[in-house]
Amino acid sequence: MIARRAILIELPKDRCDVDYIRRLMVLTNLAYQGYEVWVPDILKSIQYQFYNFKNYTKSLAFGTTPKRWFARTWIPLTTLRIFSDGSMKGNGVAPVVLDFKCNVIRLRQVCRNEPRYSIEVPMPRWVIERVKEGGDIKFARIGLKDGEPYLALVAERVVGPYQPSNYILVIDVNAWNHGIAWSLIKDGFIIKWKPERPNLREVDNLYNLSVRLSREYGRLKRLGLEKTEEGKRLWKKIKKLRRRLYAKMRNYVQKLVHRLVRKALRHRAIVVIDDMIEESRRELLEEKIPSGLRKLYLTYLRRFIKLLTTQLQWYGVPYEFRRLPSAVCPVCGYELTQLPGRIMVCDNCGFKAPRDKVPMYWAMKP
Ligand SMILES: [Zn+2]
Repeated sequence: MIARRAILIELPKDRCDVDYIRRLMVLTNLAYQGYEVWVPDILKSIQYQFYNFKNYTKSLAFGTTPKRWFARTWIPLTTLRIFSDGSMKGNGVAPVVLDFKCNVIRLRQVCRNEPRYSIEVPMPRWVIERVKEGGDIKFARIGLKDGEPYLALVAERVVGPYQPSNYILVIDVNAWNHGIAWSLIKDGFIIKWKPERPNLREVDNLYNLSVRLSREYGRLKRLGLEKTEEGKRLWKKIKKLRRRLYAKMRNYVQKLVHRLVRKALRHRAIVVIDDMIEESRRELLEEKIPSGLRKLYLTYLRRFIKLLTTQLQWYGVPYEFRRLPSAVCPVCGYELTQLPGRIMVCDNCGFKAPRDKVPMYWAMKP
């Protein structure tokens, strides 16, 4: 099986021609839709890249299949890898050169439409780590995200799942506000169980503040004052706040995934995931969480699952999705009653456990 992981690298804006990159994106989109596009003023070697799509479909994490007429298709680029022992792999005239000897990435001709124009960015540690793990970076893409130029790198690795030991790592994804619970099971015993939660108060505070400021900004806009000093300052503040909020969530998700994957690897466990995003959505609706915050929670829940499965695949950790009920008795199948403090009890057989722990008992059943 081929496993893939991807990373986004911000490119120096002052050394990239954003309009040129935008134009390349439009041309790539046309090429993808089957049109022959040849533009006289763009280098042939760059234009050949547009047609790399055929080797790329299904292989990239970013916008795998461009939507029809959607002009924001990132440009697929071939790469040349120069290793520290001097050996090389890939295309000699590739626009992206990963130079492990000098620890830089060189971008040729794709940042500006000038012959021999090339820029260098430092080699991210991420790349070095993936290559050490046996990965290879055959693909890259360049494109704009919120108007800023980025390079996306995709590492590939051929890997088969390992033979699991007698450990099971269960990951139960709840509504975001109730967190993600995990447990380690060995030979039918729960040896560790832990519900994980981000610092919700901090997230809520940032969110509420951004909503309040947005409202204020809306008021200024209605008065036609959004271009004044005050309006501009406010807009900057809102953007900064949102960036902080997203960074916080992203960080939390990344760290949690990293920890869980390490845990699975350490015990050579099989991973069982209950991904109840739909149920979570209903739960969040019932709890009357503001829609913006609900969307934010769900986005990061999805990102968590995506990141988790990508990394499990990358390291060859066997995993499966299984529905693990939290309101049905794992002993006798009776409907459980919820007591205050999210404690579940069975009126039939006396089973009792915290709600987030019930799925773990289900996971032990064959
Ligand atoms: Zn029961």
